[in-house]
Amino acid sequence: MSKKIAIIGAGISGLLAACMNAEKGYQVTIFEKQDFPPVNPSTIAGGMMAPYSEIDTLPLSFVKAGVKGIAMWKAMLDGGADFVFSKEGSLFVAHLADEVYLDRFVQHLNSVSGAWQWVNEKEIRALEPDLRSRFTKGLYIPEEAHLVPLLALEALFKKFISLNGQMIKQEVQPEDLALDYDWVIDCRGYAPQFDQDLRGIKGEILLIRNFEFSLKRPVRLMHPRYPLYIVPRPDHVFAVGATAIENADEDDGLVMLRSAMELMSACYSLHPSFGESKVLDMSSGIRAAYQDNLPRIIIDGEKRYIRSNGLFRHGYLLSPIMARCIAHYIETGEENDDFLLFSGRYNHAAFQE
Ligand SMILES: Cc1cc2nc3c(=O)[nH]c(=O)nc-3n(C[C@H](O)[C@H](O)[C@H](O)COP(=O)(O)OP(=O)(O)OC[C@H]3O[C@@H](n4cnc5c(N)ncnc54)[C@H](O)[C@@H]3O)c2cc1C
Repeated sequence: MSKKIAIIGAGISGLLAACMNAEKGYQVTIFEKQDFPPVNPSTIAGGMMAPYSEIDTLPLSFVKAGVKGIAMWKAMLDGGADFVFSKEGSLFVAHLADEVYLDRFVQHLNSVSGAWQWVNEKEIRALEPDLRSRFTKGLYIPEEAHLVPLLALEALFKKFISLNGQMIKQEVQPEDLALDYDWVIDCRGYAPQFDQDLRGIKGEILLIRNFEFSLKRPVRLMHPRYPLYIVPRPDHVFAVGATAIENADEDDGLVMLRSAMELMSACYSLHPSFGESKVLDMSSGIRAAYQDNLPRIIIDGEKRYIRSNGLFRHGYLLSPIMARCIAHYIETGEENDDFLLFSGRYNHAAFQE
């Protein structure tokens, strides 16, 4: 039977939940308070889907869920996927004096042996010719992916409209919609006024154009003070990030001078051609996180209300799996195999493999 579903928020979690429910033949409406595409953490994100790279902060079961999420992306983006999405892996490098940070990180990666490999200078050059002669030791993780966030969101929006979905520009609260819809899915991102358990972690990111430099895949520079990732985008543009400022409330979209200087100097230390590059944009967003930094799906069956939130640094990685859990629950009233991860009943000890 067809159902009427309202979704609040057109970030990555709202759009994916919208597409997956519309694919079931339901009548889905997204309420977004900004014009599309909105300015939110989803649009400014780095766009990496890097489960293994996050293994020092992400429990193994979530790493595995993220790997499944990567596999879902290509299908979800349909045509044009090569431009928007690529799966070229990730490369970690460190300057000679900081190589100990690579060794330390490998202690975490050892729990997924087979998913990564050491690379020497020659292998680094083969992977990323523009990093030649700069690094003698690195780590390559082949199964990771990255996408261009804005293009991915636009592709999902197009797909949603083609599935007869509609988007309304309006700021709404779940109770405004309860009478008119069978289910309300709340994907508002950082909204501490409605969920006291959420905290905000500000992330700052730069967009830089450097015609003298190319990368095929995200590169992470291990550094004691300025850890850096740099994600390639079309036309020699690079997303360079990102800071993590705890308990940030102010969502002004601006970047602190100190953060900008740190990110830029890390970039320059990766390759001197960044000295001549152009800064196209600097922005910040507030990542919503629960205390354990793991996302949640909270369901109130009586009110027919579902909250999907707390995606922290993993919106692109984990939203596909979460959206599938939600669509399955709405269809069957049952929790699928992945649901437990997001239920708040997740227990690290029980999941140790
Ligand atoms: C600098 C930075 C870099 C990041 N890099 C990565 C990365 O590389 N990989 C990754 O996986 N994740 C990354 N993240 C994290 C990722 O961006 C977030 O996890 C994800 O965007 C959260 O998506 P969301 O849909 O839950 O919320 P949001 O993107 O915040 O979207 C929420 C939407 O809800 C709308 N809204 C809010 N209230 C209302 C209301 N009352 N009515 C109507 N609409 C409303 C907002 O306008 C907004 O558009 C990064 C985050 C930042 C800040």
